[in-house]
Amino acid sequence: MSSGKVGEPHVFHQDRGLRNHALSSIAMPKAKRLRRFLALFAFFALAGCATQNTYFDPLKSHHRPDGFANPGSDRTAARTPWYEVLYRRMRGDFEPAREPEGGYSAFNTTWRADVDRQLIGERHERPVVTWLGHAGMLLQVGGKNILIDPHLGPYAGPISWLASKRRVPAPLSVAELPPIDVVLISHNHYDHLDRGTVLALAERFKPQWIVPLGLKAWFEDQSISNISELDWWDMLSALPLKITLVPAQHWSKRTLFDANKTLWGGFAIEWKRSDSAPVWRFVYTGDTGYSPIFEEIRRRLGRTDFLAVPIGAYLPRDFMRPQHVNPDEAVQIMLDLDARQALGVHWGTFELTQEAFDQPPRDLAAALQNHQVAPERFWLLKHGESRRIDVP
Ligand code: ZN
Ligand code: ZN
Repeated sequence: MSSGKVGEPHVFHQDRGLRNHALSSIAMPKAKRLRRFLALFAFFALAGCATQNTYFDPLKSHHRPDGFANPGSDRTAARTPWYEVLYRRMRGDFEPAREPEGGYSAFNTTWRADVDRQLIGERHERPVVTWLGHAGMLLQVGGKNILIDPHLGPYAGPISWLASKRRVPAPLSVAELPPIDVVLISHNHYDHLDRGTVLALAERFKPQWIVPLGLKAWFEDQSISNISELDWWDMLSALPLKITLVPAQHWSKRTLFDANKTLWGGFAIEWKRSDSAPVWRFVYTGDTGYSPIFEEIRRRLGRTDFLAVPIGAYLPRDFMRPQHVNPDEAVQIMLDLDARQALGVHWGTFELTQEAFDQPPRDLAAALQNHQVAPERFWLLKHGESRRIDVP
C-alpha cells in the first residue's frame, strides 16, 4: 500500500514549509510577501496542471482527463487530505499495534528460509514460484524468469526516516538472482516500485519492463529503456507467454502532485504449452480492494490456475477496505476467479498498517474455514522459499 507512507513526507514538508513561511512573513515587506505568494500560487497551480493524462480515452470508464479512476465509486485513499493522514499516523494507523508473538526475531525464524539457489538457477518449463517477501515474486515458467513487484531494499518509502521499516531481510540481493527476462510492476507505490532495486536490475539484466499506463516516464527518468506500458486488458506477447494487465481497485501516488496520474493493476500471465494441453494461467491481483472486477476477469480470461493475492495491510478496516482486501476477501477473490491454487502475498515484511505481522495467517486460516476451502489450496511461503506448482 504505502497510503500513509506516500502521503506523509509531503504532509511534513508542507507543514514545515507553511510554518516557516508564516514565521518569515512577519518581518517581510508587503511587496515581497505578495511576490512570494504569487510564486507559490504559480508553483502549486502549475504542479497541479502539469500532468494531463495524455492517454485519455473518453470511451474508457477508468480514464479521466487528468489521470485514472476505479470503476464505480472511487473511495480509495488517493485524495485523503493530508491532515487526515497525519491524524491517522499519530494515532498509529500505519504501524503494527503489537509485535508478533515472541517478537520479530521469532517471526524471522518462522518465516525465513534459505533460498534454493540451484533450483532458481535453472530454467523451468513448468512453473516454480519463489516468494521474495512482501509482494515480490520470482515466477519461472515456459523457460522465462519473471520478477513481479521486486523490492529488495531496506525500507519502502521516499526517504528512510519516513518510510515503512523492513522487518525481515530480503532473502537475496539482485546479484544473487538468476538472469531476469521480464519485470512486471503493478503500480507506483513505494512498496512495489523500489528505485534501488529497479536500478540494480536494469544495470545487471537489462530486462523487459511491463508497467501500467503512465509509468514509462518514471523509468525513462532513470535512463531505463525497453519498457512496455499497458492499459487494462491490453495483452503483450512474450513467447511462449502472454501477459495481460488486469484491473484492480486501487490507486497510485508517489509525490505530492501525482495522485492517480498513472494507472495501477494486476497481471495475468498465460503459458501456452507447445503441446495441445490447455493454457496455464497465473493471476497476480496487485494491490486491490474487493470488487466485482474479479468475476469479470474470470469471465473474460477463463479460470485461474494459480493466484497470487494480498492478504496483508488491511487494518484499520475503515481506511483500508476500499484499497486492500483482508484475508476473507482474498479467499473470496480466489473463489471469484475459480482459482485452483493461491499464494498469499503483501504481508509479513514491511511495517505498513495496524495488524500485527502474525495476524494475516491467523485470519487466513479462519477465512479458509469460513469459505470451506481446503488449507492446502492457499499457500503461505517463507521469505525466500520456492515451490514447484503442479500443472494439470
Ligand atoms: Zn502495497
Ligand atoms: Zn499500493
